[in-house]
Formats: sequence, structure tokens, C-alpha cells
Amino acid sequence: MKFSKILILFAVLVGSLLVLPHDGEAETGEVYEVGDINLNVRSEPSGTGPVIGQLQKGDQVISFEEKYGWVRTYYAGEEAWVAAHYLTKMSQENQAIKPDKQRLQVTGQSVYIRTGPGTDYAIKSSASAGNTYNMLTKDADWYKIELADGSTGWIASWLTDKPVQENKSSNQKEQKQETTAQEVRGVSTNKNNPLDGYNIVIDAGHGGKDPGAIGIGGVEEKSLTSQTADQVADVLREEGATVIETRVKDTYLSLNRRVEVSNAYNTDAFISIHYNAFPIQTIHGIGAYYSSQNKDLALAENIQNSLASSLPLYNRGLYQEGFHVLRNNDAPSVLLELGFITNRGDVTAIQSAGYNQKVAEAIADGLEDYFY
Ligand SMILES: [Zn+2]
Repeated sequence: MKFSKILILFAVLVGSLLVLPHDGEAETGEVYEVGDINLNVRSEPSGTGPVIGQLQKGDQVISFEEKYGWVRTYYAGEEAWVAAHYLTKMSQENQAIKPDKQRLQVTGQSVYIRTGPGTDYAIKSSASAGNTYNMLTKDADWYKIELADGSTGWIASWLTDKPVQENKSSNQKEQKQETTAQEVRGVSTNKNNPLDGYNIVIDAGHGGKDPGAIGIGGVEEKSLTSQTADQVADVLREEGATVIETRVKDTYLSLNRRVEVSNAYNTDAFISIHYNAFPIQTIHGIGAYYSSQNKDLALAENIQNSLASSLPLYNRGLYQEGFHVLRNNDAPSVLLELGFITNRGDVTAIQSAGYNQKVAEAIADGLEDYFY
């Protein structure tokens, strides 16, 4: 993730619900397309600002502000600026990112729909990740939605792609206790399961319109992360853990949304799965990224050690980086780069049978080392 040409596009959400890192600039952004050059992405709105990445022809960016001929957007989760001169405004029908003001999409894996706006209300039915509904009205952190049979129900906003964040009320704790159907099913009765009682969030990097890095043979990071995440989730569930996947389909999720999912649960560990890319094809190996020394380092260390001892790839070790999904996460968090898809040796290993199973078992072992 770190080196790859990843453009983090923030979905155009309902303006008032979209919480950006900077208050008061949450109006729906214009979508621009990069013209026929390699466009530098800078950390400041100036031609002398430090270059933090590059965009290519056809990449799309959302503008959140325009200043001195520069457009503010986000790149790898961080504020970034690109010269407006090289951008063309896109017509609505050509936008990969379409504003969606009426519908919400469920992002929790299996989520209760209740008869009223709160966990005190009875469960009416459940919804799966990827399901979409018409939004009718809002009450605090809950949405009233239209169900397929024409009736209505209520869903917790933080388990959808339209979280309501302004309401940090005193009943936040209670709201966090909203559990999904998946959680209840995932509770193990086998006391011998080493991860029994632990809530683990598995985050498959990228997805939907964000393919992540593109590697040798055109392989897309987002599909590899999906496959690996599913396998990891399976193995952790076999060992008794309650596992929440931030996405189970090829859908786009903002970095904020991924953090929201993690922060909505009593998450014991958040694990983000990525594959790496770099212009120099000899660069290879696996690495683990942590943000906080206190909160994250021990988790990263245990999982990286376990991966390094079981995978056939070079051990690049640990890196401290303030990635958005780590830095804003309440839970101990790690971002794993499980090999370079721009390196022939790595990508062969990554795509070999059994690689995902090895990764999954190593992560499970690392978690046990960490918890005990
Ligand atoms: Zn990535």
C-alpha cells in the first residue's frame, strides 16, 4: 500500500453526513479526471511542495477545496494537493463515483434490522453486507429504511456506509453494544478454542472502484486481499474468534468507514490485509505496519514474527506509519503487506495454492501469542 499508486477516493456521500478531517468543508466534491500526464501529488498547494505520490491519466480525484489553482484531495488517506491545471471536470455519467443521496449500503457482515431506533427495540430481520435500502428518515444514529416487502425497519448507521458521527452522546457505549447476527452465530461454545471470546476485525484492503496496486500479469491487489481476508476469517472462526469483515464483496469502503466498523465493536484486534507494489521489481518481502507503540506494536510484532517464520517470503520487518486505519482505530491495529505483487518471486508464492491458508494460520498463531 505504501508505495503503490493508490488513490484513495472518498465516496461522495450525503453532504451533511460526510465527516471529513476538516470541519466545514463537507460539501459534495466535484470529480475530476487526470489529463494526459503523470501528475505529481504534493502535500502542500505549491509547485515546490513535497511530492508524496503520482497520478496517471484517467485517475479520478474528488476535490474538496480549490486554492491558488490547486485542488485538495486525499491520497493514501492523507490530505494532498494536485495542480488544477491538469484536471478536467467529469460529466456525471462518466464518473466512477456517483453521488448516492437516497440509498445506504450495509457494511456490517450480518446486521439486525429493528422495529425502532435503538438496541432496546425488537429484532425484525437481518441484512447482509452489500444489501442496499432506501433511507426514509434518521433518528440520532439510526436510519429508518424501506424493506423489500414494503414494510419499514431501523438500522444502526455505523453498520452502513452512511455512519452518523456528529452524535457522540452519552449513550455511545450502549450503541456500541449493538451486535450483528454474525456475532451471535460466531460465539463459540467450545472452551478449547484458543480465540474464544475475542472480537477480531479483518479488513480486506481496497475494493470496488479502488483496485489497489496492479501487479505482474495485471493482478489486482483488491482481489488478493479479498481472498486472503476470507481465508483468515474462516481460520479465526474455527479457532473460536468472533470475526467481523469490513467487506466480503468487491465493494468500495472509505478508510473512515473501515475504522468506523472497528470502533463500533469491542474489537480486540484490527488486521488490515494488503499487498505491496514498487516500481523496482527486485523489491520483495512481507512487512507489518503499526501506528502507536503502546497500542499497536505488540500486536504487529507477534503477527509479523509468526508470518515470517511460516511464509517463504523475505522478512522486511516492522514499520511505524500513521496510516489512517491504524491511527484512528480504538483497537490494537496492524496493517500487513503480505508480499510485493510487482516482484516475480513474491507474486508466484502469493498466487500459489496454500498461501492464504498459511497466512491465515500464521495470523491465528500470532494472535494467540499476542493474547496469551
Ligand atoms: Zn494496499
